[in-house]
Amino acid sequence: MSQLTVAKFGGTSVADADAMSRCAAILEQNPDTRLAVLSASSGVTNLLVALASGEQQPEARATLLQQLTDIQQGILDSLNKPEMLTRHIEDILVHIKELADSAAISPTKALHDEIVAQGELMSTRLFVELLRHRGTPAVWFDVRKVMRTDDRFSRAAPDLGLLSAEVERELKPLCDNQLVVTQGFIGAANDGRTTTLGRGGSDFSAALLGEALDAIAVQIWTDVPGIYTTDPRLVSEARAIPEISFSEASEMATFGAKVLHPATLQPAVRKQIPVFVGSSKAPEAGGTWIRNSTPSQPLFRALALRRNQVLLTLTNQSMFQVHGFLAEVFGILAKHKISVDLITTSEICVSLTLDAGAELLTDEVQAELGKHCHLKVEQGLALVALIGNRMSEVNGTGTRVFQALENVNIRMICYGASPHNLCFLVQEDNANQVIIDLHRELLPA
Ligand code: ADP
Ligand code: ASP
Ligand code: MG
Repeated sequence: MSQLTVAKFGGTSVADADAMSRCAAILEQNPDTRLAVLSASSGVTNLLVALASGEQQPEARATLLQQLTDIQQGILDSLNKPEMLTRHIEDILVHIKELADSAAISPTKALHDEIVAQGELMSTRLFVELLRHRGTPAVWFDVRKVMRTDDRFSRAAPDLGLLSAEVERELKPLCDNQLVVTQGFIGAANDGRTTTLGRGGSDFSAALLGEALDAIAVQIWTDVPGIYTTDPRLVSEARAIPEISFSEASEMATFGAKVLHPATLQPAVRKQIPVFVGSSKAPEAGGTWIRNSTPSQPLFRALALRRNQVLLTLTNQSMFQVHGFLAEVFGILAKHKISVDLITTSEICVSLTLDAGAELLTDEVQAELGKHCHLKVEQGLALVALIGNRMSEVNGTGTRVFQALENVNIRMICYGASPHNLCFLVQEDNANQVIIDLHRELLPA
């Protein structure tokens, strides 16, 4: 199958039977789409996370389970409660209840992923049945057969070699002559235990499967008709970008544009697979194509915002002209699998932001770092990223940006490492206004 396309449908796209029907119509109009990768129905993963976190109160657990059941029942009702599937979904809900009871006694990371994965397992079963109702046969496939990962539960990393080999063996033959429906977000460690790729990970799953299947395109169907100049929920004047390069879109995803999981474009870049982002509610509205390069390369393309940033400042009075200090610090962070985003240095200080919350900075990490330097941890910050082209080469870029922010306290600036971004930290409380002001000044309609 040389023309295969992979389509991913996010949570709102499979929220209920009407939404699922719109996805089915998209697939029916695109016979080259042989693999549909689904998220859990909207709201389901949040409920499962609450159950997996070891909710202590039986009444609270019962309420969460009821909400979960209502979402699944709503879809089953629209399908006239097919007997076998209804029983299957009921079995899954009982299984979730048992696992949640265990988590209340002793929550573990492995149990967490096993519980949270049930959302995608249910949505895909329901979607296959909905397709069957419409006369569009499709095969349900358990992605854990191919999405092999390490065992870092909640943030598992795929094993690309195993994924490619298993896709070749298990999935490619199925996709050759029919539509296959599978789960995003979930995988399995070598010992068979269920893992997950991190919140929002279904985009990444779709891109990884597209890469392994040699797809000619990956479509990300969501609730907005494309990637916008900034989050349209924040700035109503934001507009969809028809075409954007891999480099720019990767910066956007990394620095908080929720529309794409940060790792989504890595597989696409490796295999040069164009990625389309569109709305399953309005497929006719078009969307954004992400490609290797685009004819237009504006200086300013988009703004992204990432909240809850942790800024770590390490001070060592004797750092001046001493070698090895940064290596020590990064060695400790690497040992604890903490990755760093932004960095600035001075004579005796290094400031850096982490790509995850303060919970990674455990007492153990702080004690180890504390042996080499004084440590200051600041929270309540937001990272603003301006994305564009040749920004570090064009005179006056910084002036234009910072003039628009003359009344804002800017905590840290990173500029020049890439021609595609200029990042800075502001207080969380100012973040929305900063995006609104910058969008008005730098990205006018
Ligand atoms: P899905 O459930 O389909 O994966 P998400 O909620 O993860 O959808 O992502 C879509 C949301 O991303 C949009 O509703 C929008 O609010 C948000 N978003 C943030 N930044 C952008 C952007 N630059 N362009 C489009 N959407 C964005
Ligand atoms: N269902 C998962 C989540 O809500 C994965 C996804 O939607 O991409 O995070
Ligand atoms: Mg998403």
